Amino acid sequence: MTARAPAEFVAACVRPEIRALSAYEVAHAEGMIKLDAMENPFPLPPAIRAKMAAAVAAVPVNRYPDGAARGVHAALRTAFSIPDSAGLVLGNGSDELIQIITTAVARPGATVLAPEPSFVMYRLDALFAGMRYVGVPLRADFALDAAAMLAAIERERPALVFLAYPNNPTGNLFAVSEIVGILRAAPGIVVVDEAYHAFADASFLPRIAEFPNLLVLRTVSKIGMAGLRLGYAVAAPEWTVELNKLRQPYNLNALTQAVAPLLLAEGWLLAEQAAMLKAERSRIHGALAALPGVVAYPTRTNFVLVRVPDAPRRFDGLRKAGILVKNLHGWHPLLEHCLRITVGTPAENDALIAALKALS
Ligand code: PMP
Repeated sequence: MTARAPAEFVAACVRPEIRALSAYEVAHAEGMIKLDAMENPFPLPPAIRAKMAAAVAAVPVNRYPDGAARGVHAALRTAFSIPDSAGLVLGNGSDELIQIITTAVARPGATVLAPEPSFVMYRLDALFAGMRYVGVPLRADFALDAAAMLAAIERERPALVFLAYPNNPTGNLFAVSEIVGILRAAPGIVVVDEAYHAFADASFLPRIAEFPNLLVLRTVSKIGMAGLRLGYAVAAPEWTVELNKLRQPYNLNALTQAVAPLLLAEGWLLAEQAAMLKAERSRIHGALAALPGVVAYPTRTNFVLVRVPDAPRRFDGLRKAGILVKNLHGWHPLLEHCLRITVGTPAENDALIAALKALS
């Protein structure tokens, strides 16, 4: 009998839709001005770093972490005024929670529905879970096509609807009345993904008690803690009890559990940084919109979506100038020649504006 190659086993048992994918690629960014991933650009002040170092040094890494992550729960409830009546479930980034929510409803034939373009993991996690995925195109101005969404909900009866509020990669907030219409019409859970809430001045969190099928998803990644990998989901306790069953027993590691409460207690710093980023956002939005042939779209996030005459050329030009942004050209018909630019420090933003001017 001839030995069989690994590829034969893979072909025999890994699902074809998985084999057809490529792994999520994170751009190599060492030494570059990194404006591609919506990170907070500010390093922590030395005094807070020292506190963090002491907290980390005291962690017994030979032991498993607290499986219930009680300290992080309490810190999040305080920092974000999450009422005791609401349920809370934590994830290794909100990415993990998207997968947990999808897995919870993934019965054969069940459907996930989301507007498009939006966060790519909604579609990918549906595929991983073997679910049907239906994307409903946004309008040309990136607003929800409310009639198309409601018609799709009626037709598809989705178990799960994802709405990013504000939306990534377009940066805008969908109309509250249209989201409410979707919450009322949907037969299943509606996830309002508020990854960018710190920059949006709008939230559905205060409305959890009003809608039995609403889950608000958040992350601390955009407010200075992307490296900790911490996301949280708030919904009626009936939902979070179920989702908690799908969580890996120790999904929040001990170092994250030691550091996150400490940083969440520095509310003044998080608020100050968010305010600075919002001010920088309007400054770069104005400067980008003034460039010839460039459209800068309204944004309630820490990034600006721009449409340029020649996205691949400008993306390459920026990269040669040491600046990494996200090239969305080719992602979706509505994103032709679009670049997504994360708001950086004032100096980084100056460098970006100068480089784009030089490429005009
Ligand atoms: N939701 C949206 C809308 C996002 O843009 C992102 C990050 N790109 C996430 C969720 C995931 O964030 P994290 O896993 O870092 O919490």
